[in-house]
Amino acid sequence: MTNRTAIAEGLFTWPSDKPALLGSRCRECNIAEFPVKSSCPACGSQDVGVEQLPRRGKLWSWTIQGFMPKSPYNSGETPETFTPYGVGYVELPGAVCVEARLIENTPEQLSIGMEMELVIETLRYEQQGNEVVTFAFKAVE
Ligand SMILES: [Zn+2]
Repeated sequence: MTNRTAIAEGLFTWPSDKPALLGSRCRECNIAEFPVKSSCPACGSQDVGVEQLPRRGKLWSWTIQGFMPKSPYNSGETPETFTPYGVGYVELPGAVCVEARLIENTPEQLSIGMEMELVIETLRYEQQGNEVVTFAFKAVE
């Protein structure tokens, strides 16, 4: 069986059947952040807690990434094998705007305000067959 490893620790609950992004929330002013920060960017308080963020949100803005991103987001593709993908900000209720890959990768599939759901997708395969996964958002049917 293939080993599926998250691209980074502490970004989302993993392994999990219903993975959720992990964010921090300030106990002083209630501002939420993703990814987790050790202090509040709004008031500077270090009294922050980690919580699971909602799995669904609304698409706030988006673009299509038409060229290869720089590492650390390198997926192992080459310019010849690269496939354009969507990138968007998804506004999670009561929480925070999250920048993420989108499963949809053409403008016809995307519109501001549409409902999006968190999914985990393969980013790349490493030697020994290890699969590296990352989070993305996908339009809710
Ligand atoms: Zn704060």
